[in-house]
Amino acid sequence: MKTNPNHPKFERTLVVIKPDGIQRSLIGEVIKRYEQIGLKLVGIKMLVPTADMVEKHYTLDPQWRTVTGVKTIKAYEARGLKHPISQDPKVVTGVILKTLIDYLTSGPVVAMVWEGAHAVEIVRKLTGGTEPRSSADVGTIRGDYAIDSYIMSDTDKRSVRNILHASGSVKEANDEIPHWFAKNEIFEYKLLVEQIIYGARLEGIL
Ligand code: GDP
Ligand code: MG
Repeated sequence: MKTNPNHPKFERTLVVIKPDGIQRSLIGEVIKRYEQIGLKLVGIKMLVPTADMVEKHYTLDPQWRTVTGVKTIKAYEARGLKHPISQDPKVVTGVILKTLIDYLTSGPVVAMVWEGAHAVEIVRKLTGGTEPRSSADVGTIRGDYAIDSYIMSDTDKRSVRNILHASGSVKEANDEIPHWFAKNEIFEYKLLVEQIIYGARLEGIL
């Protein structure tokens, strides 16, 4: 039992290894990176998502259509270009959503729940920014293993292939986790190493 379930060390986030990540044989590499920083895997499964699941996943946050559209249009502007489809963020995201459904229903994905201090922020940091070309730093999963760009994906009318989904905020994580996992698919258990990562004092070593 958790003595204080609101302790920040119990923060949880959702990660989905997208079909390109599975095809690139990156399941182990992705898990290794989140594991080695000290996060705890509390749920994992493989599935082929339905179109309906994918659409709901991306529209759980009513702001997603606006925020993602604005982000994409700005990425074009930063290169002195106009977005090829529209200047209206919602139109841009409408197209992105269609391509995301094709992308995520094209094969099995691995969905995971990771738990630990600042899980959402830490996982995003290790994952890297959305566009592998520009915003995913070297050293991050997207920066190290993906080569895609908005210009590439928009030219070919498909989604940016960036290996993973990772919740963007605590609110997003709290909405997304129950969308992908039933309560009994998430496990509450202790890892002995937590005493070293979170213990208030390092006792019992000597
Ligand atoms: P994330 O949280 O970093 O995954 O990014 P978003 O939530 O903004 O977008 C969701 C997913 O949509 C991304 O991971 C990409 O696969 C895809 N995507 C985002 N922006 C674009 C875009 O401008 N063009 C295309 N083709 N796909 C995009
Ligand atoms: Mg997102």
